[in-house]
Amino acid sequence: MAASLSLRAARRLGTPAGRAARQVVRLVPVRWLNLQEYQSKKIMADHGVTVQRFFVADNSQDALEAAKRLKAKEIVLKAQILAGGRGKGSFTSGLKGGVHLTKNPEDVGQLAEQMLGYHLITKQTTKEGVKVRKVMVAEALDIARETYLAILMDRAYNGPIMVGSPQGGMDIEEVAATKPELIFKEPIDIFEGIRQDQAFRMAANIGFKGPQQQKAAEQIQKLYSLFLKVDATQLEVNPFGETPDGQVVCFDAKINFDDNAEFRQKEIFSQDDVSETDPLENEAAKYDLKYIGMDGNIACFVNGAGLAMATCDIIDLHGGKPANFLDLGGGVQEDQVYQAFKLLTADPKVEVILVNIFGGIVNCAIIANGITKASRELKLEMPLVVRLEGTNVNEAKRILRESGLPIASASDLEDAARIAVASVPAK
Ligand code: ADP
Ligand code: MG
Repeated sequence: MAASLSLRAARRLGTPAGRAARQVVRLVPVRWLNLQEYQSKKIMADHGVTVQRFFVADNSQDALEAAKRLKAKEIVLKAQILAGGRGKGSFTSGLKGGVHLTKNPEDVGQLAEQMLGYHLITKQTTKEGVKVRKVMVAEALDIARETYLAILMDRAYNGPIMVGSPQGGMDIEEVAATKPELIFKEPIDIFEGIRQDQAFRMAANIGFKGPQQQKAAEQIQKLYSLFLKVDATQLEVNPFGETPDGQVVCFDAKINFDDNAEFRQKEIFSQDDVSETDPLENEAAKYDLKYIGMDGNIACFVNGAGLAMATCDIIDLHGGKPANFLDLGGGVQEDQVYQAFKLLTADPKVEVILVNIFGGIVNCAIIANGITKASRELKLEMPLVVRLEGTNVNEAKRILRESGLPIASASDLEDAARIAVASVPAK
């Protein structure tokens, strides 16, 4: 959907804010579809788009065999994680670069050994990186030129557009920031599709000449028909490259899909890779709770998307950092409060819990009972700051007061954030 594009973009960046943002806006429990590069490339190959020959391996022995089987002049070994920037990333094994080229297939086993099972850290991942479970072993091709090509739903144009640049490759973000004149956009009429003259113009803009212009235009048309066919919201090929012998090849691929199309894209959605999703997020979903992990040390227990964002912001304003937040939603039961506390405190970084609940549909007394029960049963020892407001709040405050538990009651959100930040134990 066009409206969620920027959130998707943020999510690709893997930043806590990006992850929080997309989750908050989608209040209904959804599973986001994530495909690895090899899965996207398989779909592309099936649609006649030019990609290199490849195999996938989850252990170094298979990677080595695959490299031999390819019988290629040169081989490229690529760690499969959902974040980009792999080429310039580094592994916890010490290996530099998530994309390796070698002429000797015998090297592949050793290289794969230093990738599989280790975490790959790129500028799009957290500082812990992402565990590599699979590698792609592909035929490498000489690249004479790396360009950038994407097709995406764009809010400003209210429809699909093509974006291209003659300077693709690993530093496209920098090109966009420093040389915006090298980024070309071409709106696509959703009824007409990409016209021949548009495809040719884009091909020329990104530097393809002579027969290569024709080839690039053909690839662009095929990519667009694939984009429509699979209900993509974004399809990014970087590099969209040219070889010295004049082939036009898609060397990297990232496709995002419209979740609303799941019912008619069953085969694609069945490949969803959730292995990189925070296990706590998956656990929370079982209880109809929304959990988002972040980097700080203050756990936030809230209800509603807006309040979650406001709570994170106000903690930040007071010099603190949220560790996570858990959105309770409406119609809550005491047991969910207990599960929520269990999830929030499962993160070892948490040092303070801040409860910020506005009881509209939610009855504050139920929350208060849930909190006291959870504190006792989980033997919580960390500071707990509670701000409740709304339905049955006086009864709730009485329950907390008479519980005998060391709970700090706050009068409003500002006050709650201030106390929570002040309660973080000094290091
Ligand atoms: P990322 O975008 O995550 O860094 P890419 O797949 O774009 O990963 O790979 C990074 C770089 O590695 C590319 O820009 C390109 O220079 C090189 N590369 C990738 N695939 C191949 C290939 N098949 N043959 C030769 N070089 C490649
Ligand atoms: Mg790339």
